[in-house]
Amino acid sequence: MKLLIVALARPSRLGIRRWLPGAGAAVRELVLPPRCAACDCDFTPEPGGPLLCGLCLRQMPRFSGAVCTRCLAPVPTAGGQTLPCSWCGQWQPKFARALAAGPYEGLLRQMLLRNKADSTGVVARALVDLAWQRCGEQLADWGVDVVAAPPMHWRRRWQRGVNAQAELAEAVARRLGVPAAPTMLRLRREVAPQHGLSRPGRLRNIHGEMRLARGHRLDAAHVLVVDDILTSGATCSEAARVLLAAGAREASVLVIARTSPG
Ligand SMILES: [Zn+2]
Ligand SMILES: [Zn+2]
Repeated sequence: MKLLIVALARPSRLGIRRWLPGAGAAVRELVLPPRCAACDCDFTPEPGGPLLCGLCLRQMPRFSGAVCTRCLAPVPTAGGQTLPCSWCGQWQPKFARALAAGPYEGLLRQMLLRNKADSTGVVARALVDLAWQRCGEQLADWGVDVVAAPPMHWRRRWQRGVNAQAELAEAVARRLGVPAAPTMLRLRREVAPQHGLSRPGRLRNIHGEMRLARGHRLDAAHVLVVDDILTSGATCSEAARVLLAAGAREASVLVIARTSPG
């Protein structure tokens, strides 16, 4: 007991952080004062705002121009109007609309890379809070009924020990006040990573590999698919295709970041 009191009176942050993943977020927040999820500095977060200090918030990249409301690719403008998206014209994604906190670069990219291995959920929450700050109003207007995530094969989840997409989906569902169903979509088998494939290659790689898990009914629901990064959109489009075929009314997408198409 004496040792525990000493440990709490002179907390070694690293030591406490090592024990805490198993102790749950509520205990962690009681023990540790707020620290920026990106740079680890002490700061006072705004009520309901992201767990990111002012400096890190200002460093979070934003889209520099107009983006397509469906696939988030950059779109040209003329006379204050956005012109049709050539990407959507070419491949018609199955989801109706998408939002992202920003482009996949700089500090946003660094945070997303950290999120893949963060078992505490702190990084996921900070990223979702950032997305909420930037596009929560639009997201709330969509009238989403349930939040899903692209499926991760059990072997990959076991190797990583973290399901980053599920963490994000659960945090978004809490913000929206709707149920999260991050395991609603399953993979039929382990598919090759999408990384490094062309858009047609990605579409071929994932097509027909997802299914709805048993016990889920969609009953004309509007499903929001939450993913960390949108690259070609092939994974989210296949998720939307399966959800619509299973009875969803609409499928929309929220990602934390969008890579440059190409
Ligand atoms: Zn910071
Ligand atoms: Zn588009």
